[in-house]
Amino acid sequence: MDIEQFRKAGYAAVDAICDYYQTLSERPVKAQVQPGYLLDKLPKEAPAQGEPFHEIAAAFQNDILPGITHWQSPQFFAYFPANSTFEGMIADLYAASVSNPGFNWICSPACTELEQVVVDWVAKMLGLGPSFWTSSGVGGGVIMGSASEAALTAAMAARERSLRRLAGHEHAAENGQIEVPDEIRQKYGQKLVIYGSTQTHSLGSKAAIMLGLPFRAIPVSAEDGYSLRGDAVRKAMEADVADGLVPFLVIATVGTTSSGAVDRISEIGEVLKDFPTTFLHVDAAWAGVAYALPEYRELLRLSELNEYVDSFATNLHKWGLTTFDCTLLYVRDRQDLTQTFDVTPAFLRSKEADAGEVIDYRNWQIALGRRFRSLKIWFVLRSYGVEGFQRHLERGISQCKQLAEAVRQSTTFELVTKPSLALLVFRLSPSSRSDLTNDTLNVLNQRLHDRLNARYDVFLTQTVLHSVETNIFCIRFAMGGVRTTFEDVQATWSIVEAEGEEVLKDWDE
Ligand code: PLP
Repeated sequence: MDIEQFRKAGYAAVDAICDYYQTLSERPVKAQVQPGYLLDKLPKEAPAQGEPFHEIAAAFQNDILPGITHWQSPQFFAYFPANSTFEGMIADLYAASVSNPGFNWICSPACTELEQVVVDWVAKMLGLGPSFWTSSGVGGGVIMGSASEAALTAAMAARERSLRRLAGHEHAAENGQIEVPDEIRQKYGQKLVIYGSTQTHSLGSKAAIMLGLPFRAIPVSAEDGYSLRGDAVRKAMEADVADGLVPFLVIATVGTTSSGAVDRISEIGEVLKDFPTTFLHVDAAWAGVAYALPEYRELLRLSELNEYVDSFATNLHKWGLTTFDCTLLYVRDRQDLTQTFDVTPAFLRSKEADAGEVIDYRNWQIALGRRFRSLKIWFVLRSYGVEGFQRHLERGISQCKQLAEAVRQSTTFELVTKPSLALLVFRLSPSSRSDLTNDTLNVLNQRLHDRLNARYDVFLTQTVLHSVETNIFCIRFAMGGVRTTFEDVQATWSIVEAEGEEVLKDWDE
């Protein structure tokens, strides 16, 4: 494709995207295809000769779009919102146009410096304290692809920091790196333990798997709103220490996936004062953007986060208007990252980095190369402004409050947990049927979810809330879509109500 062909194809692509968005709310939210639909359709090998581009673009419409579940649909309420905005899309196009792996400042100074600017914009918008600002020169933020990657990055940094502490911080090498002596690594390396709760996202277990270390999923109580408490952390750690193990990382969550629970950060932080080899990471993948609303900061324990936490991650690509993928990882001390990831062969050195004048973000992450993600944050925040970003969050929260009211008024459904920001967790539980046990309700709600799942015009995901008291099967209604109106919420809720009635009718027959 030459430049003029690109110009034409590019205009056509934008037209097709506009048409897609104009018809989005008329399309069923879920892909109406069966497993293997595309595998059966496409050739098994790449074409020997190149094909005309208009045919390739048409195949996107004919072959690919039917297999797309419309996450951008205003009626998408499954998992979590994954908002894309036109600003973010255009930024991604520009980023692709200057495609480069930006790992060192010298690779493309704009990529590094824009990242430094926007991570601080976001830190200030969220109310993170100055220690997390990149401009502090001590802590700072880095953009990556997922909260799971951020958690693994934090876990690796935590492991190295623990080992350095166990070694007493000696052995600084010539390049400023503090080397962990082999005997310390051998003695403690396999004794380290990660902690989270039964509500922690699978990123906790995955980080543990990748490091070859155990993950302790500490039980929580429904009475505590499914949040992880300090005492439970202490108990688990003391048991491990008694067995000769070494706690090195707690992953706390602000806004758990299942119900939006917020772990007790200050309680956990106080406990960790007695376990000084332990690092505290907060995963706020979905809910973290809500710190942008000052009135929610206390509920989400922002001051505790600012006081106790070593690292914090949130996804702008969920509720935060920024086209996938865009996770921000903040650390209180950037050396936790650089002491782990700064591995610099001669060919990666530069005069500016040697002089300490610039950041080379490859030293803050696992991979060398990195996408130019700061551009989309810049476009989105400049276009929406902090106030526009806040209004967007408020819309989702307000829709959730209205839906919660409808569930409270219902004689057929109940809220399982308190509404959390834009997430509502509910179940079928007719108030006239006190004879139904929790096990029966779990069966009925599984049936309800099966019925909903068999439809294409609605998409809601289920969860099981595990606690020391019992396990509850429930359904999640995740609002916060940038194009969603309350009418969209109501339309889906009407379907849920009608399906709920059918489930009860079948049960009684
Ligand atoms: N953490 C929480 C609390 C989440 O809700 C999710 C996604 O649902 C994740 C982590 C996973 O995020 P990612 O796909 O960016 O790894």
